Amino acid sequence: MDGCTFCKIIARQAPAEIMYQDELVTAFRDIHPVAPIHLLIVPNRHLASVNQVEQGDEALLGRLFIIARQLAAQEGVEQTGYRLIVNTGSHAGQAVFHLHMHLIGGQRMRFPMG
Ligand code: AMP
Ligand code: ZN
Repeated sequence: MDGCTFCKIIARQAPAEIMYQDELVTAFRDIHPVAPIHLLIVPNRHLASVNQVEQGDEALLGRLFIIARQLAAQEGVEQTGYRLIVNTGSHAGQAVFHLHMHLIGGQRMRFPMG
């Protein structure tokens, strides 16, 4: 989608440290990490948020988790633990309106959530 930073990263028209890419998803390092490991895993197709997810997106949504798990192992946090976050809408503080899953790890996470 025109003007979408994550679409530009996926198309390699904007800089990012891309960790993984296949026909469905792309993963890259967050530009402002909140933990030692902070990656974003995004669908290649522009979906603004979870609010645009539909029947038929099962393979795509499953792939986000499978690649999250693979990258957690690659980054060495599979055993120590990590958090996967998908912010949706203003109350969740969503800032980029291209659906993305955060993978954060490498330190003990703060609780409680919310
Ligand atoms: P959210 O609040 O869930 O919408 O998070 C958006 C995330 O995207 C933030 O953690 C930003 O640091 C990150 N971000 C924004 N622009 C870029 C970029 N060009 N490359 C990598 N990460 C980005
Ligand atoms: Zn986009």
